[in-house]
Amino acid sequence: MSSDCLFCAIVAGDVPSTKLYDDEFTYAFADTNPQAPVHALVVPREHFTDIADLGRDGSAAGRLLAGIRGFAAQEGLTDFRTVFNTGAGVGQSVFHVHAHVLAGRPMGWPPG
Ligand code: 5GP
Ligand code: ZN
Repeated sequence: MSSDCLFCAIVAGDVPSTKLYDDEFTYAFADTNPQAPVHALVVPREHFTDIADLGRDGSAAGRLLAGIRGFAAQEGLTDFRTVFNTGAGVGQSVFHVHAHVLAGRPMGWPPG
């Protein structure tokens, strides 16, 4: 738990969220500004700043991917986009690593 971290507070239940999935390591909740019909934020319960920080711990990284897989399986998602923003320069605004899992509408590639 990192003090002054919004997503640590959400994981702890101190800030309300709409839970979409959870397991021992992972918590997933609805983004309050959804960019697609399905827009989940999947986070490790433990605090890591971003995907580069998470990547220092291979088992933690694997458990986050397992959580993404678990959420997708629960929702029956076969087609979804997973986005990790790393750094304010590309739009990261909350510095607790999170996967955006987006689905339910056509998505072009490359993204705009
Ligand atoms: P980032 O910009 O860091 O990649 O993504 C942060 C995401 O968190 C944004 O999509 C934003 O809408 C979402 N967000 C910000 N504050 C809250 C909040 O208090 N609750 C929830 N559920 N989502 C939030
Ligand atoms: Zn945190």
